[in-house]
Amino acid sequence: MNSPLIRKARRLLTHRAIAIIAIVLGLVVGSTIGAVKLATDRLLNASATSTAQHWANLLADTVGDLEQIGAGMPPSQASTAFFDWARQAGHVFRYEIYNRQGYSQLISDKIIEQVDISEYSVDAVKSLQSESPVVSVFEGDGTTKPEFFSRAVLPVIEDGEPVAIVAAYVDQTAERQLFRNTFAVVSVFLCLVTGLAFSLPAMAWYRRTREKRVADRRIRFLAHHDALTGLTNRVRLVERLNQMLQRLPDTGTGLAIHFVDLDRFKEINDTYGHSAGDLVLRAVAERLNRASAEGDLVSRLGGDEFIVIQHNVSDMQGAGFYAEHLAEQVGHPIVLPCGQEVASTASVGIAMAPADGTNSERLLKCADLALYAAKAAGKNCARFFEPEMDARLEERIALERRLREAIRTGDFVLHYQPIVALPERRLVGFEALVRLPHEDGSLIPPGVFIPVAEDLQLIDRLGEWVLRNACAAAADWPSHLKVAVNLSPTQFDSGPISEMVSDILDETGLGAARLEIEITEQLLISDTEAVMQELARLKSLGISIAMDDFGIGYSSLSYLWRFPFDRLKIDRSFMQSLDSKGRNTARVIHTIVALGREMDMDVTVEGVETARQLAFLQTVQPDQLQGFYFGRPMPLDEATSMILKDLAAPPSFNQAIAATRAV
Ligand code: C2E
Ligand code: MG
Ligand code: MG
Repeated sequence: MNSPLIRKARRLLTHRAIAIIAIVLGLVVGSTIGAVKLATDRLLNASATSTAQHWANLLADTVGDLEQIGAGMPPSQASTAFFDWARQAGHVFRYEIYNRQGYSQLISDKIIEQVDISEYSVDAVKSLQSESPVVSVFEGDGTTKPEFFSRAVLPVIEDGEPVAIVAAYVDQTAERQLFRNTFAVVSVFLCLVTGLAFSLPAMAWYRRTREKRVADRRIRFLAHHDALTGLTNRVRLVERLNQMLQRLPDTGTGLAIHFVDLDRFKEINDTYGHSAGDLVLRAVAERLNRASAEGDLVSRLGGDEFIVIQHNVSDMQGAGFYAEHLAEQVGHPIVLPCGQEVASTASVGIAMAPADGTNSERLLKCADLALYAAKAAGKNCARFFEPEMDARLEERIALERRLREAIRTGDFVLHYQPIVALPERRLVGFEALVRLPHEDGSLIPPGVFIPVAEDLQLIDRLGEWVLRNACAAAADWPSHLKVAVNLSPTQFDSGPISEMVSDILDETGLGAARLEIEITEQLLISDTEAVMQELARLKSLGISIAMDDFGIGYSSLSYLWRFPFDRLKIDRSFMQSLDSKGRNTARVIHTIVALGREMDMDVTVEGVETARQLAFLQTVQPDQLQGFYFGRPMPLDEATSMILKDLAAPPSFNQAIAATRAV
């Protein structure tokens, strides 16, 4: 969303950093060169002065008639010989002698003889007045004059009195070269050291910035992609879908949102394990990618749910063919590492944009509803969203909202259904069954909202609420009465629940032996070690565990010897079919009761509605019975009155039931 902005800012920062480095390096090099030049000039100046001074001293010591020469007299023979020698010796390649008025008396490269008082030198007068040397430097041509030389003008002092002024021209070409070379080496070294001192941290900073940028890119990728398949995730999907929807008016075409869901994924996952499941998901992602056209978008919402957005769609027919193609590609068998081939058909729900909606949230919901319809129609097919589904969509949205609110406020209702024990039909406890109050005052049954709570991952909080309230209620009942609480399989997904259960028992003061947990075989299908351990932990607390709705679904007997259940609850559908398929059902019920007895498990028959059913059950003698015949699920205060009636009318429970039914 803001990545182009961030990229631009980062580019600007990098350019600025490079510019700063260049400026700093430029300053270092420039100031080093400046410092070298300054130092060279000062040294040359000092050297020229010192040479001239030496030369002047030598002159004063050697030339006896210097004062006369300074006064305009011709040099003596000895002095002339000295001047001749001095012209060829040392670094002084030329000299001049001035009188005290500043007029030249003798110039060495002319003939060594007195010259006319013709050339006046300001420097000579200045040096006389200040009694210090005046030095100037010159560039020569290298032939008639040295390449670089300086002129030092200074007075010659004898017995504390200036007798003449001399100007010595000192050849400093070699000296300057030597200084320059030395300084060049030093400055290169200095630049290198400074550059190194500066560039090492700069390089470290640059490396860190680059590594951070790579890490940022990776984080951004992960934030927008599904780690397992590399497809875009929901966040990115919504972003891209919104962009595509915005462009729709310009393209004049439509979009089709295909919600693809595998029909057998859970089974594959449960049978072959999670790594096989992951492999299947990656293969499906790759196939959907290959089957989609350029410009389409494939993403994974989670689990086995994929979304493919088809662009440039002109009609429903095109979208229908596309969906069939996707499903066909997904349906090809996949070979697992163990050599086993697995295959799963796919169901597809299709929503069309702009016909079904123009915002991503609605379109994804529409495609979801269409998928729901495809599943309901027997799976392995594609269905388009239809406006009638809209009402369901609205209902679902309202239910989700209501559920979230109830989770926040704890606005649920618990009903309690009595359970009686044979042979005397004494009240032995209640099953706690949750309801969600509707805004209109009616109660929404758990079959409607529990799957939604599971979908929205709110079941943990709901389950905890139920357990806490049921245990708190049961703690006030007489101690021979138990309470049964249903746990959803998804509650086991989010980690150990035995701790939560034990905390609630402590908190409410209910003895563990008075709590029964009901689970369904759906929990055991995945048969994970963690689930088994968790059940064992619950049992070790002293809680009894019941297998609910037994006899429907897989009803694999292997579950029964893998975990020592305390109770089997025969599903209420057996009672319903007792009247129609009498004999067979009766035999099955007989068999289950015998099986329970054999395996040391109590058996409860659910859904007992009529006296006829009761009469039959009396011949079978299961341990406990539950059903509308003994009492519907009821609010807590009604359950309390039933308890009181039961206590008041021992030993037969008949009267209590008769009294309740008369109300
Ligand atoms: P279940 O655990 O098998 O609960 C028994 C269901 O059968 C209850 O439906 C009860 O009203 C109904 N029933 C009892 N006797 C009769 C009868 O004689 N005839 C007929 N036709 N029905 C009878 P309810 O309350 O609608 O609950 C449905 C299911 O919702 C429960 O089935 C249970 O699986 C689930 N459920 C209820 N409360 C909770 C809960 O707190 N947590 C979880 N995870 N699931 C719950
Ligand atoms: Mg139950
Ligand atoms: Mg049941």
